[in-house]
Amino acid sequence: MTKIPVDVGMIYEGERIRKNAMHVEFGGPKSFGAELFRVAGSDAVGKDKVTVVGPDIPEMAEGARIPLGMFIRAAGKKLEEDLEGVFERRMHYYFNYIQGFMHLNSRDTIWCRLNKDAFKAGLKFEHIGAAIIDLFKKEYDVIEKMDLTFYTDEKAVNEFIEQARAVYEKRDARLRGMKDEDVDVFYGCVLCQSFAPEHMCTISPERISSCGSISWFDGRAAVKVDRD
Ligand code: SF4
Repeated sequence: MTKIPVDVGMIYEGERIRKNAMHVEFGGPKSFGAELFRVAGSDAVGKDKVTVVGPDIPEMAEGARIPLGMFIRAAGKKLEEDLEGVFERRMHYYFNYIQGFMHLNSRDTIWCRLNKDAFKAGLKFEHIGAAIIDLFKKEYDVIEKMDLTFYTDEKAVNEFIEQARAVYEKRDARLRGMKDEDVDVFYGCVLCQSFAPEHMCTISPERISSCGSISWFDGRAAVKVDRD
């Protein structure tokens, strides 16, 4: 088990990292990045493996703005592609559980910050990745294997974003043409209440969530996995 030099838990979920407390910023309006969760065959997925393509956190100068790609692949006999969007949104949750790390937004608009205390404690991507994999596997026993790749090399991040956008487009295309009248149930999401306590989304085929990352199909898949 990888020893993580900071705390990890729900208590850190609403932690804000202001500019003065920040050591490094990833993605956001002054850089770029994306996150993607994919279901894959067991042979293709490493066993709890974390890979870093590009500079790791200790090599990052104070105040740096770095592009970031975060790519999770998971395998499990009961996992379905329909669940990818749901698990991808859980990334927002779990990355915020890491003390000193802040995650905002979704898909190719992610914006993350690492604070000075976490940097001084020696936090690296292998620690963040190990924590994320552990959190996913503890919550969802349908996940048997998982790997996580962090991209910080600019060219690799750009290539990853292109790959991620093709997957987002494929997911979104499923909903085009569907009408609210075609279904007999809508879904609600309150995932953002750690940041916005009075916020909730109602998600129907024609009304996608505010974050853009939970569709009606994702709502349906989330309910299914929560009930199983
Ligand atoms: S669907 Fe709404 S509440 Fe849920 S994560 Fe997206 S913006 Fe937040």
